[in-house]
Amino acid sequence: PVVTRFAPSPTGFLHIGGARTALFNWLYARGRDGKFLLRIEDTDRERSTEEATQAILDGLSWLGLDWDGDAVSQHEAMARHAEVANALLDKGRAYKCFSTQEEIAAFREKARADGTSSLFRSPWRNTDAADHPDAPHVIRIKAPQEGQTVIKDAVQGDVIVANTELDDMVLLRSDGTPTYMLAVVVDDHDMGVTHVIRGDDHLINAARQITIYEAMEWDIPVFAHIPLIHGPDGKKLSKRHGALGVEEYRAMGFTPAALRNYLSRLGWSHGDDEVFTTEQAIEWFDFDGIGKAPARLDFKKMESISGNQIAMADDATLMRDIDAYVAENDATKLSATQQSALKTALFCLKDRAKTLGDLLAKAHFVLGERPFTPDEKAAKALDPVSIGILKELTPHLQNASWERDRLEEAVAAFAQAKDLKLGKLAGPLRAALSGRAVSPSVFDMMLVIGREETLARLGDLQA
Ligand code: GLU
Repeated sequence: PVVTRFAPSPTGFLHIGGARTALFNWLYARGRDGKFLLRIEDTDRERSTEEATQAILDGLSWLGLDWDGDAVSQHEAMARHAEVANALLDKGRAYKCFSTQEEIAAFREKARADGTSSLFRSPWRNTDAADHPDAPHVIRIKAPQEGQTVIKDAVQGDVIVANTELDDMVLLRSDGTPTYMLAVVVDDHDMGVTHVIRGDDHLINAARQITIYEAMEWDIPVFAHIPLIHGPDGKKLSKRHGALGVEEYRAMGFTPAALRNYLSRLGWSHGDDEVFTTEQAIEWFDFDGIGKAPARLDFKKMESISGNQIAMADDATLMRDIDAYVAENDATKLSATQQSALKTALFCLKDRAKTLGDLLAKAHFVLGERPFTPDEKAAKALDPVSIGILKELTPHLQNASWERDRLEEAVAAFAQAKDLKLGKLAGPLRAALSGRAVSPSVFDMMLVIGREETLARLGDLQA
């Protein structure tokens, strides 16, 4: 059975790079009846914060990336990490190193002067530490120094690292706390992780982690190191490229489905498909589709995917997304009346909205209350002549049958009789019905609000 995991360090917000890593792990597990686990890598007690953990959990939940079981806190397994370090000592695969910081610095200094490798070679590797038992020390792995370590990577292929490049990394610090290198291997092993999917900034770590797996004679998981995300200019992603936190995308009015779709396309592809459902992504996702070059952020594509995802969303999901968005961005929630009005109007709001904010702006005709105070552009459309024309149109609507085709016919016939272009009539009508210059089609609005309300809004107009 497949077991994947997302293992963020809680030192900030949920970065879109992290969210994409989580998504890939989630897709891989969900498509294979596997499990997707969440482990908060909080052994660095100074940098880890409760708020950051909460932000990560919230971000994942909002994105719909549900994890199996409880989120695991890495620092709670510290005793276990120490136990494995000691087991490696017992096996002769690790050793106590008593070198001080000064000695290590001096070693590096000399290596630099001599032009030799600055990887620290501890004199304690081959020295019996028995006469030093109580002095402060770290535990180091006895890394292989000859031959090579091969990372069989599902994305990068076989990555060969010469063992001369590997130092005897620290497993347990002198205060008894584990290093990332040790903790990650022990936890992945103990949690039964079969596939480690993460950013390729961890690729070289994999070689060092493999030495721990081998020393413990544990099964090595499948590694899949995915190229990082770059900015639109192809440079390493940074704040100047714009939104980096999932939270910011959420605030911009992108739906979870849209962000899932977009993130899945950052570094992974399935033929030419750009817009697809999460179910399709689950079905299609595989390592074959992951590219070897860094993905680039593309805000245009994000918007286009978002518009498509809003258009194809089912009403219940969209209403939930809208509710959450409004609650988050305005201090007020939608009233029950507004919710039901919005729901009836969704069919004509979904189509051309790039974001939830767009959709809500066009929804003013159901969310606002009459009499409408037109915005600037709408007010311009409602000049005295136009209002006069709308007043003349009113009785025709009074008698029209309230169906889309009939309404269109009635308005077209009126326009023709008055020798008016339909467009000339639609602008003022839109302004009168919605108080806005941008809205769904006037006929859709009339259908949604009904005859009585339509006539009332026209009745509100004063020349
Ligand atoms: N905690 C590590 C990070 O945030 C991830 C470790 C891993 O995925 O192996 O980069």
